[in-house]
Amino acid sequence: MNEPEALILGIDCGGTHLRMVLVNSEYQVIAARVYKTQETLKGMDPVAELANCIRHYLHRNLPEGSKLEAIAAGFPSMVAADRQTIIDTTFIPSLQNINVCKGLSEFNVPVFVDRDVNMLLRYDAKRLELDPSNAWLGCYIGTGLGCALAVDGKILAGRHGVAGELGHIPARTGLHCGCGNDGCIETKTAGNTLTGIISAEYGPDEPIDQAFARHGSEPFMREWLDYLAQAIATAINLLDPTAVVIGGGVPQMTDFPKDDLMDRILRMTRKPVPADDLTLLYPPVKADDGIIGAAIYARQHR
Ligand SMILES: [Zn+2]
Repeated sequence: MNEPEALILGIDCGGTHLRMVLVNSEYQVIAARVYKTQETLKGMDPVAELANCIRHYLHRNLPEGSKLEAIAAGFPSMVAADRQTIIDTTFIPSLQNINVCKGLSEFNVPVFVDRDVNMLLRYDAKRLELDPSNAWLGCYIGTGLGCALAVDGKILAGRHGVAGELGHIPARTGLHCGCGNDGCIETKTAGNTLTGIISAEYGPDEPIDQAFARHGSEPFMREWLDYLAQAIATAINLLDPTAVVIGGGVPQMTDFPKDDLMDRILRMTRKPVPADDLTLLYPPVKADDGIIGAAIYARQHR
């Protein structure tokens, strides 16, 4: 009799959608399902709600003759150094101070939890075959400005688990940040900053995915790009990375100004190096990237 195929359940929790996918040993994905995050994680015990959702998903989608090997989940959250507990989640009020691994213990498989951007960088490092002997920097520009760092092929977690909060470097922007501090650079350069400006200037029906194509030369856009360059150049000057991955939905928009961003980063990067030898990588973005990264994380730690 054949051994049952071992599958990892990957979960990617975003502010709007929660995605579940089964991943096989070749990192192929099976049975993608999308749920509404706020509905799925509602109530006083969001992890119990998540467990319910997983139970239903597995009942309907786990193929006969296969078995669950692990659960691996990425959250847009501060994750504690124990890599089990979510400390805080900006866009999902229910996800605060919750031990996800304990909450999912009924499935009797190892549960792996990390920041969503760390999962993305794991996948990007694998598909781009990044050299593990040095540092990697991943900047993921979506609703917020996400960042993941790796040193010697290992994701840098930091003492409390929250290293890589690039969006919260102080930049005297004059704006209050969702984290409680004033002047974080994310207040001027995240995707939702762009959405806010476009909506205020042109009305709520203006298509955000055409922001660069229609408004790329306007002063507000140049300011947005300049703050982004400042954030990325700061991380480059600290890390001297072998690779800089630029991901997330915003750089995928029509006419995203890659050359202009590079020029601005180079103006702020230390000479002669790393400025003389800098490459920004823009790998294609797909819905399951973070989930495959989560499966890689689970396999590395099994
Ligand atoms: Zn902040």
